[in-house]
Amino acid sequence: MNRNEILSKIDELSKCKNFLEILGLLVAKNINGKVKDIGYEDYKRLLSYKEISHLSGFYLKNRNNKSNTELDTESTADQIHKLMDSLHFTFFSNDEKSFDPSKIEREMLLHETIFYSGGDAHDFQFVELARYKYQNDRGWIKKHKGFDIYNAYDNYMVIRSLMDFIMNIRHQHANPSNVLTLNKDNPIFKRNPDIKQLIEAFAIQENEVVNEFFFNIGDYNEFLVRPIFIIDNYYVILMPYQLAEAVFNNPFYWMNKDKIYSSKALKNRGGMAENMVFQMLTEKYGDRYIFKNVLLKKNSTTTISDIDILMLFEEIAVIFQVKSKRLTENSKKGDLKSIKIDFEKAIKAAHKQALTCKEAIRKKEYNSNSSKNLPDLKNVKEVYSICLLLDEYPGKTSHVRIIMEGEPDKPIVISAFDLDIILRHLPTKVDFTKYLIFRYKNRDRLVAASERAFLGGYLFNGDEINNNINDRPIILDEDHSQYFDRLMFGKHLAENRSKFLEALKDIERNDRCFCESGLKYKKCCMQNFDGRLSP
Ligand SMILES: [Zn+2]
Repeated sequence: MNRNEILSKIDELSKCKNFLEILGLLVAKNINGKVKDIGYEDYKRLLSYKEISHLSGFYLKNRNNKSNTELDTESTADQIHKLMDSLHFTFFSNDEKSFDPSKIEREMLLHETIFYSGGDAHDFQFVELARYKYQNDRGWIKKHKGFDIYNAYDNYMVIRSLMDFIMNIRHQHANPSNVLTLNKDNPIFKRNPDIKQLIEAFAIQENEVVNEFFFNIGDYNEFLVRPIFIIDNYYVILMPYQLAEAVFNNPFYWMNKDKIYSSKALKNRGGMAENMVFQMLTEKYGDRYIFKNVLLKKNSTTTISDIDILMLFEEIAVIFQVKSKRLTENSKKGDLKSIKIDFEKAIKAAHKQALTCKEAIRKKEYNSNSSKNLPDLKNVKEVYSICLLLDEYPGKTSHVRIIMEGEPDKPIVISAFDLDIILRHLPTKVDFTKYLIFRYKNRDRLVAASERAFLGGYLFNGDEINNNINDRPIILDEDHSQYFDRLMFGKHLAENRSKFLEALKDIERNDRCFCESGLKYKKCCMQNFDGRLSP
């Protein structure tokens, strides 16, 4: 089957009466698993967030146009899983049967990695960093969308904890498609109406027509923008992760549509990327020797270039060039020319600027008196640079490897989310620079799909890699990044317990139970809930 045939088949199947149930089963099997399984799944066999989102896109397209046919839930879910696997092959050949792994061309991987490389970010990072991202837009968001971006992290975490509780404790043996719904009258909203507002802002109403033209990979999918939908008196939250991502991405687009506010939103976005990175670095490493918007000038009239963030540590200077460019729609659809143009604008441009600055510092070509925010660089012996992308740019690490193959000085490209993880695991500037030196030294030798995998390789096998002197590439597989998934998830689960318990405080004996069992609280979790969120 070619791509069109596969997608047509899925489109057709998604019209069945019980498709939501089938989708729920796929989510339960592939995404919202048990807490104890996190980070241990064989990632190659599971459908990803993006694949499930694509299937959800079909659900939304056809939900008001359903047939009366009811399909067997288990076997149809299996059939769809297989169809999605076949779809993966279409990135490399016209049909699965003629697929030959030795014939994969590097350019084919450019589109494949955009759709299939795992998300760069953990869900809590999206909601946490959204607060930095929209710190100057808090008022607009509250007024127009009803939720407070400052509390979005806490509120999201209560939703997430509740979902984890329902999935892992309360309904361990229940039908998985019943697991992912919250009644609008869930008593958890009593103490925190803001949680309900957050959900409402990202919910699609029952009678709305969406995704009319949705079909192919990269087509506009409302599910990515508003991942919650309403059925009767219920919110269906298939994947809390998608909600977190939408909290980070959407407000900017909402504000852009507001004719009166859009210019202010754009202005706020302008300096925001640098500010955000500056804040992240200084909160961790202190504000001495970290500088923002440093201008390098040849003399009082000629500017060489500017550095977004400059960090000094003894004889080492680290240049951060920050961009907030996202992949365009055409790139997501697989247009190679667009992919290369996006790469040029987001990554190569930042890299080129960094190289110019590096050169000027190394050769001492700048005039130290001509710019007032220029720190003393006379002791600097080594200069490193990092290209930092504010938003997710799926496949970026592979794109650097493929598009810049053979070029001598390849950039290190990370996202704000990568930086967040790096800062959490490298507590001092010394640790940070050591990692950077390792990364540079092994730039061409190490192959990984994400920055987290590089960091994992460094933390757990760094010495081994350094001592391994042959030039053969070392592949850091996803096990290196899954470590962080387990660690971060466990840490957050523990941290959120108190927030979750706090949210339960106003529930009264005769309220319906928060766990969605349909029973009264006094007859349900009031008796046996011991505050644990996972078994
Ligand atoms: Zn209960």
